[in-house]
Amino acid sequence: MALTTREKHDYGDSQSDIRECLSQYSGRGYAVHHFADAVCKCSSRTFSLRVDNNEGVAIRTCGACACEHPIGDSEEYLADAELEECECPCGESLFEVTVGVSLYEDSEDVRWLYIGCRCPHCGLTACYGDWKNEYSGYRELLARV
Ligand SMILES: [Zn+2]
Ligand SMILES: [Zn+2]
Repeated sequence: MALTTREKHDYGDSQSDIRECLSQYSGRGYAVHHFADAVCKCSSRTFSLRVDNNEGVAIRTCGACACEHPIGDSEEYLADAELEECECPCGESLFEVTVGVSLYEDSEDVRWLYIGCRCPHCGLTACYGDWKNEYSGYRELLARV
């Protein structure tokens, strides 16, 4: 497990490297305290991802069974969302997805949410979305990643 930087992009060799990427990324803002990896009901771990950073919505679609799932509390904000499909600079659009949350001090309540992805094709690992999220109880939110 290692994250390396080439030409301004970070590359990881496993999904766990997304965590390091999000930790570095969030270092400039609210630090990530907890993570969860996205896994489909069919046990696949690669997804296409549509995101609206303004509304705070991310929808993942399983690359194996095409099941759609709104990440965290995305469903509540879906009505106004203008979703954009994420694409890796290499042209691929299936990702491993790990979500990180930052909590309020001495609290289990969420303050900020980060969507991290790694492209299994080229290894590029990045934060594809982050926004203010005020969910009470991070465990419940992360259970819906
Ligand atoms: Zn699936
Ligand atoms: Zn790629």
